[in-house]
Amino acid sequence: MLCNQCHERQATIHITQVVGDKLAKRDLCEVCGKEFVDAAKSGMTNSFESLIRGSPLQIPYELMLASDSRYTQEAYDFVRAGLERAQQNRLRRSQTVPAHISGAELLEGLRELAIESFGKRAKATLNGWGIFKCEDFGEIVFNLVAADLLSKQEKDTKTDFQGGYNFDTAFPS
Ligand SMILES: [Zn+2]
Repeated sequence: MLCNQCHERQATIHITQVVGDKLAKRDLCEVCGKEFVDAAKSGMTNSFESLIRGSPLQIPYELMLASDSRYTQEAYDFVRAGLERAQQNRLRRSQTVPAHISGAELLEGLRELAIESFGKRAKATLNGWGIFKCEDFGEIVFNLVAADLLSKQEKDTKTDFQGGYNFDTAFPS
């Protein structure tokens, strides 16, 4: 797939952005993707806050895994996909721009996605990636925040992910 911007290089960065009340996908190459994110971050566009948290910017897996060996690369990919899912859910329900996804919304998006993707193997699959409870999803989210890949609001804390569902009942095998 070629970059939407320069139409020259391969697109390796996939950004989901809220434009008006719609989700727009951009597929950008390394160069254009960096420009886009830098511009958004420096306030040249006001879209950074509406960039989907966990938008498929490339996750530096080696770095993530080196700083926290509990979770696999798949765990990060899955949480990223769950974030998109949660925002799409919100958009479908309220037709408003999802400015912020709560921990509870994310957990629900992740649960739906796991069951859809893996059925009765959902819990075992997540376990294989180092995810055993909702707090693990929270740890991954905050690892992404720490790596500056996700933005968070002041009020976001890891406790948002405590007291979520129990994996045994949420993922029947
Ligand atoms: Zn490009």
